[in-house]
Parts: sequence; C-alpha cells; structure tokens
Amino acid sequence: MSGVSVVILGSANVDVIIELDRIPGPGETVLTDASDRGRGGKGNNQAIAAARAGAPTVFLGAVGADESGDFLLEAQREAGIDVTHVRRIEDAPSGTAYVMVDSRAENAIVVVAGANGQLLSLTDAEREVLRGADALLMQLEVPMATVLEAAAQTKRAGGYVVLNAAPYAELPDELIANLDLLMVNEHEAALAAGRSGTPEELAATIGERVPDVLITLGAAGSLLQRRGSDPVRINAPKVDAVDTTGAGDTFAGAYVAATVAGLPEQGRLEYAAAAAALAVQRPGAVASIPRADEIQDAVR
Ligand code: ATP
Repeated sequence: MSGVSVVILGSANVDVIIELDRIPGPGETVLTDASDRGRGGKGNNQAIAAARAGAPTVFLGAVGADESGDFLLEAQREAGIDVTHVRRIEDAPSGTAYVMVDSRAENAIVVVAGANGQLLSLTDAEREVLRGADALLMQLEVPMATVLEAAAQTKRAGGYVVLNAAPYAELPDELIANLDLLMVNEHEAALAAGRSGTPEELAATIGERVPDVLITLGAAGSLLQRRGSDPVRINAPKVDAVDTTGAGDTFAGAYVAATVAGLPEQGRLEYAAAAAALAVQRPGAVASIPRADEIQDAVR
C-alpha cells in the first residue's frame, strides 16, 4: 500500500448560476444581472467532502488548461487534496454547468462536459494511483469505460470500491463484479432495482447483484444493507435546510472517509449524515461542505 487513503475519480465543473424571474422558452431572450460562479461536479464535490472530512485524498479527473481549471484546482488544493494527477486538457474547456434558477426556485441545467469527456481511458500513472488506494469512490459523470477500468484496477489490488451511481446509467455486469458498495438515492435505487418499493425492498433487490447497498433518503436519513446482515437504518438530523445541492455528494465523501478511518457501520452513517446535515444548512455545493472538526462537533 502506497499510503493513499481515498481516490476519487470523477467530474469537476464550474457552476454558472443564473437567477431569473422566469426560465426562457425556445426562441426567447431574458435579461438578468444576477449571476454567480461556484464549484461543482460530483467528483469534485465528493473529493472535497472526503478531504474536509479528514481522509488523505487524491483526485483523478480532468479540467481545461484555462482559468476555470485554476479556479477548480485552487479549492481542491485548499482542501488538502493531492491534485498531482489531475489532467489539464489543452483543447477542451473545463466542464461547466449552467444553472438557471427562477423566482419559484425551479431550475433548468445544461452541463457542458468539456474536459471531463476526455477521460476516455486511464494513464499508467493513474492506474498506479488506483492500485495503491485503500478506497476508490466514483460517480457516473465521466465515461463508463474509465469507470470500469478504474474499478478493476483498485479491486484487483485489494482496495474497497464504491460507486455512487449518479446520474443513473445501466450498470454493466463487468462493473458490478468489481464493486463493494453501491450508493444511490431513492430515485436511483428504484432504477437500479427495476421496480418501486420501500427502501428495504429496493435494497434487498439491488443486494442480489452487489455485496453492499447504501440508499440515501433525503431528510428521512439512509439505509445500509450489507449482504448477510440485517439492514441498518438511521435518521437524518432534524435541521432547517436552505440548499440541498451537494447533500448526496457530501454524504458520499464523508461516508468513505469514515470507512477508511475504521469507524463501524453505524458510526460511518452517523458521520456522513452529520456532514450532509451541515451542508444543507448552507448555500452552494463546494462552499457548503463541512470540515472534520465541524462534523465531529455535530456528531457528539
Ligand atoms: P442531492 O442531489 O440534493 O445532492 P441526493 O438526492 O443525492 O442529494 P439525498 O438522499 O437527497 O441525496 O440526500 C443525501 C443525504 O443528505 C441524506 O441521506 C441525508 O443524510 C442528508 N440530507 C438531505 N436532505 C436533508 C435534510 N433536509 N435534512 C437533513 N439531512 C438531509
């Protein structure tokens, strides 16, 4: 083991948030001067969540050789993430999510994949990092072929492989064979199970294919079903949510950080739920992700 604790492979995006009275329809032009820039992308959010939650973290991903790329890496470095292997792509811009939010808080989002779409296969250096990981955490915002290969590399070397299947896509058997834990929200759980049902029923169905299943249930908490064990269900702390963007990502990063730190099942779930509950009380994606000291204070 090379001493790397958590490797996150995934997307990094600049979020351009545009506030409007009304989201324009086809052919329409709407003016506003309320625009803001933030950092997002599921890979980036989960890496920052794992690092702030206390895990030595390496990010594998791609950003443009542009100012947006600098903007994204700056926050990763500040969180203590090892960004040595992040690719700077010369001929594609950094991934960008254009988020339109209207006066009723409805949104419409367009994501330009940009540099994220260039992660078509792994380099030798990335393979080596993956083989040295205690745990690998991925999502589905980068090409599936790369996700498949990364899972195989880490699994073969004895690392713990976690997939947050978001946004949901059909999971090839070849990928499932290398997963230790599948993490999904309730909507994704129904898609993965191919049916509707209670969280316990969905977890049981998905659990026929994957050893461990973790379903997040928004304000209702989360459910962990490990093969051969009884399900463990915990409540989310009761808080006043102001912005749930990135709640799932914060939960995933903190859960994996707690796993490599050796916390028992219940403790991992409670740590992740405390982190996500802090995140929903603050606006933004990356900006809302809490640090380990804040999470520990909340768990006590
Ligand atoms: P998002 O897409 O908003 O990031 P998600 O759909 O991936 O989230 P959720 O199941 O909605 O994931 O939320 C993930 C976790 O965040 C929950 O299991 C819970 O611990 C926490 N959480 C979400 N909403 C709330 C809330 N209103 N109050 C407290 N905790 C919450």
